[in-house]
Amino acid sequence: MTFREELASIKPLLESIGPYNEFPEEYNSKDAIEALLTSKVLVIGAGGLGCEILKNLALTGFKDIHVIDMDTIDISNLNRQFLFRTGDVGKSKAQVAAKFVEERIGDKQLKITPYFGKIQDKDLEYYKQFSVVICGLDSVEARRWINATLVSISESNDIIPMIDGGTEGLRGQSRVILPTISSCYECSLDLISPRTTYPVCTIANTPRLPEHCIEWASVIKWGQVFPNQKFDADNPEDVEWMYTAALSRANEFNIEGVTKSLTLGVVKNIIPAIASTNAVIAASCCNEAFKLITNSNPILDNYMTYSGDDSIFTFTFELAKKNTCSVCGVTGISIIAQNWWTLETFIEEISEKKDIQVKQPSLTTSSNYLYLRNPPHLEEITRPNLNKKLSNLINPGEEIIVTDPNLPMSLKLIVSFEGPELEPI
Ligand SMILES: [Zn+2]
Repeated sequence: MTFREELASIKPLLESIGPYNEFPEEYNSKDAIEALLTSKVLVIGAGGLGCEILKNLALTGFKDIHVIDMDTIDISNLNRQFLFRTGDVGKSKAQVAAKFVEERIGDKQLKITPYFGKIQDKDLEYYKQFSVVICGLDSVEARRWINATLVSISESNDIIPMIDGGTEGLRGQSRVILPTISSCYECSLDLISPRTTYPVCTIANTPRLPEHCIEWASVIKWGQVFPNQKFDADNPEDVEWMYTAALSRANEFNIEGVTKSLTLGVVKNIIPAIASTNAVIAASCCNEAFKLITNSNPILDNYMTYSGDDSIFTFTFELAKKNTCSVCGVTGISIIAQNWWTLETFIEEISEKKDIQVKQPSLTTSSNYLYLRNPPHLEEITRPNLNKKLSNLINPGEEIIVTDPNLPMSLKLIVSFEGPELEPI
């Protein structure tokens, strides 16, 4: 199939024609309007980008809009998340945003359906109902999850395009992902610079820096004490708990330097939010949704970067699909391990790789458990493997399956060995 033919198979593209495309005379604007009126659009995130996206979609003429957000409104959101007022602090972002736009537009045909919860709460059937999904998220994990979900739906069903917007200060980007056809989010994971991370095993066993103690409190202890609760860096009680936990850890290992401001810096990963950048990126995302649904113009192919910090610059390029992509590719990721690496070293190494980025990995092969984090009795059984040499646990070329609670899919790693048998001194 040609790219154009593939595009034509996308729900709900009418035909691969448009008034500003190759075959303007064949464009049927009635069908386009019908598609606009009947398409279901899902917006993920009702924060800085989400408020803009919901407003734009409603004003563009979409009538059936759904929005998911697990967060509640914080006073610090009010400077840019313009659908919220002081009296809304503490309420669900999705619910307040949906109600505000519905009431402000005042169109009886417009229905915005909010869901106050996690994207992971919904199953495949839920996601299959949408014509397009627009993400206004600030989390890599959530994007990886929805991307993998949409790719798996698109493998057996109609293709559901994913439009992803992101901003960081005065910079931003928007992209269109046609799952299984174009490059997916996971294909370009290595473009994202992961925030400074520390090896999980160091955090768990041999902390040396104050940051290790804070990460321990954040990555390990928090989940044990509050298994079903997300840490909220805007909640003073959560921050106080994290600081106290990190401090007691630091005292235990005689580490100095854990302060409340360092705790905030490490866990919050503070990024300034600029309202105008959100507006620019949200506008681009909504334009793409409009073009996809009405097929009026060629869509973004497939990545646009915007920079407003050094004058203004914008650039569009096509990210390539990756053969080794864990979500849409066909082969696993190749890793060259040193012969002397223990399983623990291996886990530390892969956790830091940009195209893998896992925080709590469990590793298996087709025949063996290498290391499992859960359930606890299997963790105990597999823990001794951490100190064994990987080259004694698997054969060269053998595939290791990595799972992580934050990812809906597993990663395939194909491991080969080189180098000395003993750790070089
Ligand atoms: Zn991919």
